Amino acid sequence: MADIIYLDHAATTPADPRVVEAMLPYFTEQFGNPSSKLYRLGAESRDAVEAARESVAALLNAKSDEIYFTSGGTESDNWAIIGSAFANEKKGNHIITSAIEHHAVLESCHFLEKRGFEVTYLPVDEYGMIDLDDVKRAITDKTILVTIMHANNEVGTLEPIAEIGEITRERGIHFHTDTVQTVGRIPVDVAELKCDSLAISAHKFYGPKGVGAMFLRKGARALPYMQGGGQEKGKRAGTHNVPGIVGLGKAAELALEELAATSARLLPLRDKLTDGILERIPDVKLNGHPTLRLPNNLNVSISGIEGESIIMLMDMNNVCASTGSACSSDSLDPSHVLLAMGLSHELAHGSVRFTLGKCNTEDHIDHVLHTFPCVVERLRAMSPLYAMQQGKVSV
Ligand SMILES: *Cc1c(COP(=O)(O)O)cnc(C)c1O
Repeated sequence: MADIIYLDHAATTPADPRVVEAMLPYFTEQFGNPSSKLYRLGAESRDAVEAARESVAALLNAKSDEIYFTSGGTESDNWAIIGSAFANEKKGNHIITSAIEHHAVLESCHFLEKRGFEVTYLPVDEYGMIDLDDVKRAITDKTILVTIMHANNEVGTLEPIAEIGEITRERGIHFHTDTVQTVGRIPVDVAELKCDSLAISAHKFYGPKGVGAMFLRKGARALPYMQGGGQEKGKRAGTHNVPGIVGLGKAAELALEELAATSARLLPLRDKLTDGILERIPDVKLNGHPTLRLPNNLNVSISGIEGESIIMLMDMNNVCASTGSACSSDSLDPSHVLLAMGLSHELAHGSVRFTLGKCNTEDHIDHVLHTFPCVVERLRAMSPLYAMQQGKVSV
C-alpha cells in the first residue's frame, strides 16, 4: 500500500492509528455489554459509550443526551427522515429536499412518497447551490420536514444551512441536514445551523466503518424504527457496537483538536491541484462552487473522455480518485448531482473527483499533476468524440 496515493477521502478514510488503539481493548478484555450495568465489566463499557457520546456532542456543540449512536450515515439519514415524517404525519404530509442529496436521503424520500407523502425536490444552480427563495416558496401549511445536505459529497458545494434553519425554525418545521461530509472537516455547530437533526458517519473522518450517530434536538421527534431492547433511551434498539462507538468518539476528539490545522494545510494543496489541472489540461470544467466549497474537494469534467477510463488509468499510476459517486459507480448512469447542475450527459460522464485527506502531502499533488495530464492526453488521443469536438474530423 505504501505507494498508493489516496485522493478519495469523500468515499472513505483510513482509521487513524490512535482511533484503532482506543478501540482494541473493547474487542477483548473490555467486552462487557453496556446494558449489563450491575457488574463492573458492563458498567465500564457503558462508561466508554457515554464518554464517546460526550466527545461527539462536543464536536457538534450539542448536548450529550441529543446524540444517538447508529450504524452510520445511511441509518442516521433514514431514521431522521422516515422517523420524523411518521412522527409528524398528523400535521401534514409534505417534505422538501433537493435534487442533489445523497442516495440515503433521496431513497428515504422515495420510500415516503410511496406511502402517501409528497416530496418537493428543489433545483440547484450551476454551482450546485440551493436558492433560499425556492425553499420559502416550496413551504406549504402541510410541510413537516425539510432535509438539505450541508456539503455535497460529489462537488463539495456548501449549502446555506443556517439560513434554511432560520426559515424552518420560524415555521416550526423539522429541519434535517446530512452533515456526513462536513463533520470532522469543517466546524459543524448545531446551534449555528439551527437544525433539528443531523447525520454523521465515523468512516468519513478517520473512524471505523459501520458506526455513526444522529443528533436529535431535545423536543424534536423521530419515531424509532428498530424494535427490541431499550438501548439509546428506547429510541434505537440493539446491543451497542462498543468498539465502533469508542472509535467514533476518539475520531470526534481528534477532529475537534486537529480539524482547523488539517484543513489549513489541505486547502493550499487542493488549490495547487486545481490551478495545476486547469493550467495543464485544455477543455476542463471546474464543477461546484468556486469558493463556497469543502476545502478538500476538487471536481472537474474532462470533455471528450469517460470518467471511468480516467479512474482506471489513474489507478495504474497508483492514484485513487473517483467519478460520479462511489456508491453508484457500478451503474453507468451519469451523476444526478452533475445533471441537476445543468451539465450535459457528456460532461457529467467525464467527471473526476479528487478529495484530499490527512495523509496527503505536496509530493502527492506533484505526482498527480504529472500523471493526470498524461492520462487525459492518452485517452483523448483515442477518443473520436474529442477529435470531433476539436473539429479534427467531420461528422
Ligand atoms: C458517505 C455518505 C453517506 C452514507 O454514510 P455511511 O456511513 O457510509 O452509510 C451519507 N451521506 C453523505 C453525504 C455521504 O457522503
